[in-house]
Amino acid sequence: MTEKRTVLIRYDEIGLKGRNRKFFEKCLLRNIKRALSCADEIDYRSPRGRIFLDIPLSFVTECVARLKTIPGIASFSIGICMKPDFDAISTLGIQWIEPRLESRKNSLKFCVKTRRSAKSFPKTSQEVNFEVGSRIMNKLSQQGLIVNINEAEYILEIEIGNSETMVFDNREPGLRGLPVGSSGNVLCLLSGGIDSPVAAFMMACRGCRVHFVFFDNQLFLGRGGYEKVLRLAKKINRFQGRGTLFVVPFQNMQGAIRDHCNEENRVVLYRRMMYRIAGEIAGRYGFMALVTGESLGQVASQTLENLAAVSCITSLSVFQPLIGMNKESIIRRAKEIGTYEISIEPQPDCCSIFMPGNPVTRSKISVMERDEKKIPWEELRDDALAKMEIIGVDNL
Ligand code: ATP
Ligand code: MG
Repeated sequence: MTEKRTVLIRYDEIGLKGRNRKFFEKCLLRNIKRALSCADEIDYRSPRGRIFLDIPLSFVTECVARLKTIPGIASFSIGICMKPDFDAISTLGIQWIEPRLESRKNSLKFCVKTRRSAKSFPKTSQEVNFEVGSRIMNKLSQQGLIVNINEAEYILEIEIGNSETMVFDNREPGLRGLPVGSSGNVLCLLSGGIDSPVAAFMMACRGCRVHFVFFDNQLFLGRGGYEKVLRLAKKINRFQGRGTLFVVPFQNMQGAIRDHCNEENRVVLYRRMMYRIAGEIAGRYGFMALVTGESLGQVASQTLENLAAVSCITSLSVFQPLIGMNKESIIRRAKEIGTYEISIEPQPDCCSIFMPGNPVTRSKISVMERDEKKIPWEELRDDALAKMEIIGVDNL
């Protein structure tokens, strides 16, 4: 028989949901099953407020790595399920603690923490702590183990449920937030830069399935940007699955704006066209909001006036989850989620080509409207949409 371990998963905010709780729980369980589908031999149970998995010992490391990519998990622990038998629990505790004592010079502060969801259990949590703690101390106090509840360096935890008792000594932090799929679908304007991948990740952690649109100018910038965005989309898709990437050829639109519109308005006009096209895609596929990586005041194009001159294009909600963050914390996030290294590979973005020396920072909507009348943007938009490439990110 293969040796087993049990994983105890605690949810984040789902615990706060009233009548919708079942729906959120189902969503999370579905996402966990999908993320762990590479392994067979997993048993799932979800008694109220918790999810338990039994997994083969050989799958523990991989399982930990995968659970850390699932939004909606507050924390999880790997341990062993057993009968609520104090002798057996203490023996296990001794087995885990003893090697730690051997490898250190000083004493080790420890405590036992019990949580009972089965209130019918004949002992209180305090009593269980005492029963198990004193048995372990009997065996290990000579070797330097001391009880210290407030400053414990080692905590043996016991969860006594109705049908099973779990013993563990570790807690891994999860991503927190809401399970993907519980909020709906959104469309993120994904460039090859540092910011938009982080914005997409943050929306996934609010329960959204994020799809991506990239405006590509291969004529002027080559294949580099395209390859980069494929890899970024794949990285973010690890947190959710089932994302779609839309690649829209943008060179004709940009060429027209460059040749016919006022030079200082270029960046805002590119952006207005991006939003228009993204809005069309969202409408076709039922995505409920657009997401971008703007942060207020970060660059000339991200002033209040310019953001307003762009987002007025669409009646969809436009989310900018990074709007109040500084660059340093965005970079920290990008490193954590593994997109930073890809984002910093040198590759100009389509917004930075034909960049005017003096871009407008306080654009007026009426001025933009007048300027873009100089190009047949409806035709250019429809043509770009007709040539759009649609990629299932799971298959990359
Ligand atoms: P990022 O690091 O995400 O590129 P940025 O700080 O470079 O952001 P801008 O270049 O001003 O900012 O772009 C603002 C936002 O517009 C981006 O975060 C992204 O959502 C969107 N965007 C810019 N260029 C593209 C593009 N080529 N394709 C898709 N979206 C884009
Ligand atoms: Mg950029």
